[in-house]
Amino acid sequence: MKPFTFERATSPAQAAAAAAHTPDSRFVAGGTNLLDLMKLQIEAPAHLIDVNGLGLDMIEATGEGGLRIGALVRNTALATDERVRRDYGVLTRAIVAGASGQIRNRATTAGNLLQRTRCPYFYDTNMPCNKRNPSAGCAALKGYTRQLGVVGVSDACIATHPSDMAVAMRVLDATVETVNADGEERSIPIADFHQLPGDTPHIETTLQPGELITAVTLPAPIGGSQVYRKVRDRASYAFALVSAAVIVQPDGTGRMAVGGVAPKPWRVEQAEAELPNGSRAVADRLMANAMPQEENRFKIPLVERTLAAVLADTRS
Ligand code: SF4
Repeated sequence: MKPFTFERATSPAQAAAAAAHTPDSRFVAGGTNLLDLMKLQIEAPAHLIDVNGLGLDMIEATGEGGLRIGALVRNTALATDERVRRDYGVLTRAIVAGASGQIRNRATTAGNLLQRTRCPYFYDTNMPCNKRNPSAGCAALKGYTRQLGVVGVSDACIATHPSDMAVAMRVLDATVETVNADGEERSIPIADFHQLPGDTPHIETTLQPGELITAVTLPAPIGGSQVYRKVRDRASYAFALVSAAVIVQPDGTGRMAVGGVAPKPWRVEQAEAELPNGSRAVADRLMANAMPQEENRFKIPLVERTLAAVLADTRS
């Protein structure tokens, strides 16, 4: 690990200002992803800003009947919160499908959204990677692609976003709240938070330099039958090949987002209009314009089968 300097932030705006004014700085909270990347020298920040003391660990009701979740709420605390379990079951189910108990005890809400991809070539510093080193090339395109993306990808990067929690946040229409170095606050719909790679795969979110996530807000509960299903190569502690977060209402309308297939939680509102026509019609819309590689082409029919299983669950 390369040497770095360290400070403990005293307020969200001070943290954002420190990050904006210190080259090569990173926020650190749970550290469950960043520290691994630093040990491998995939990330080599010159300065770490510890945000653990900022008091952003609240889960509080909003005036609109929703929930405001502090950026530092640990994944376990969020998944087990009585209100989340009762009103946002898809979120609890997605969180407990991810990582391990120890990691969920440490990982934070904001950090979960900001996880880096698990593309194996991103982690291998001997291989070219446009995300790690812009314009270096992409080793995955002629490599092992089983875990990689099939939709929303580009010629520069086919990595997927690894988060389960983010898929549920997307189907719940969460909003990400931030503060910048000037103390200005911003609300970003989660649909706009993660970026597609295009020709700049190293830019993964709409966050500006120094901008700090302070909370994630959920709208008022919408009820319905809520299911999260994760298909993976082993039963636990593995990232999704395909996952699906689905909410179906008694009248048959619903919402869905899928994970494991794209650089961001993948939701296509037009696909939801196909729900009365069954999982095949939904999946066809959801995966339109997919650009699979030979080894991950199986994900397209797997999305349809996963949705079929989830829709059957919601009716049982
Ligand atoms: Fe890097 Fe993306 Fe290519 Fe993986 S798919 S090697 S993350 S550029």
